[in-house]
Amino acid sequence: MLKFEHVSKMYKGGKRAVDDLTLEIEKGEFICFIGPSGCGKTTTMKMINRLIEPTEGSIYINDVNIMDRDPVQLRREIGYVIQQIGLFPHMTIQENISLVLKLLKVPEEKRRVRAKELLTLVDLTPDYLEKYPHELSGGQQQRIGVLRALAADQPLILMDEPFGALDPITRDSLQEEFKKLQKKLEKTIVFVTHDMDEALKLADRIVIMRDGKIVQCDTPDEILRNPANEFVEEFIGKDRLVQARPNIQTVEQIMNPSPITITGDRTLSEAIQLMKQHRVDSLLVVDDRKVLQGFIDVEIIDQKRKKASLVRDIVEAELFTVEKQTLVRDTVRKILKIGMKYVPVVDDKHRLAGIVTRASLVDIVYDSIWGVDDMTKIG
Ligand code: ADP
Ligand code: MG
Repeated sequence: MLKFEHVSKMYKGGKRAVDDLTLEIEKGEFICFIGPSGCGKTTTMKMINRLIEPTEGSIYINDVNIMDRDPVQLRREIGYVIQQIGLFPHMTIQENISLVLKLLKVPEEKRRVRAKELLTLVDLTPDYLEKYPHELSGGQQQRIGVLRALAADQPLILMDEPFGALDPITRDSLQEEFKKLQKKLEKTIVFVTHDMDEALKLADRIVIMRDGKIVQCDTPDEILRNPANEFVEEFIGKDRLVQARPNIQTVEQIMNPSPITITGDRTLSEAIQLMKQHRVDSLLVVDDRKVLQGFIDVEIIDQKRKKASLVRDIVEAELFTVEKQTLVRDTVRKILKIGMKYVPVVDDKHRLAGIVTRASLVDIVYDSIWGVDDMTKIG
């Protein structure tokens, strides 16, 4: 689908920003370019839609040399998302989403339908269509930025650190949402990041760059297992210790399958009773089909007990979760990074399946340092 053949870029008076890059990307692949600042990621990406032209070598999209294409036409056929969201402040969300469609002369009614359809992909209601960017949160604006790139249904989408400016929790949920979306829509994605967590989570293959050259190009697992050299090792980070224990794979295998839960129709005093009985300071709130609604903790109860009597009145819905199939190494990083005490584990219907606590992670990291055999000797 996309092919680089010995591509180099020299800026005026500068060194080689991209140096003899050769790479082939399959249709439907999610490729992440990663590397330190200045290694040539953005330059590589911008050469694909001819915002920058190569000094040497050729780039092909579906076997057509992009230099034989009209650059404006080419750009309209490729989705593009950048870190600075770049929504137009004087345009409504509907107009922002359907900008490219308008350029492609799609009729107004069709554009409306398409914008509405796209909003539902990211769980935003149609009334957002009439709003202006400043009425949305940063995370919502970035969702719209992503939708805009999906609007014209281009098969190839370029994304340059699209989630870089977001807070960790919004970023995490958007990453997960986006990965699902990509699988469903079968897009080919070229994604630039400097965050290894992001690359490991999203990519089918990761291209690690340094000084304009490819250092390693492999699947996330292969890169973790066989880093090409010390630079890659360094870049992955020595704290990915969990990898050392290969029999542990998914969150489901290590979670506690019976977290303490409560339903919304219970009273706050029942909640306190339950906490006391199980010696926990937080309860997960579920409905009668075990779908996770959020959580309550002693602090929230203390703040709100004067104005509320039922759990459902005070439940905090903003809660970070992981799915059962998530790899343990990703979860560890998240828990440690965001500083959470625990993470609820859910299935694909958002039903509560278990809980991973900070304490349970200690064992895993510990085992991976000492090894199970040594543990028995010490113990
Ligand atoms: P990255 O996106 O990986 O941070 P870039 O592709 O932006 O890297 O930059 C690669 C190299 O090219 C850097 O050394 C940068 O300073 C240089 N560079 C980028 N854009 C220009 C430009 N317009 N003129 C001169 N040098 C540039
Ligand atoms: Mg860059």
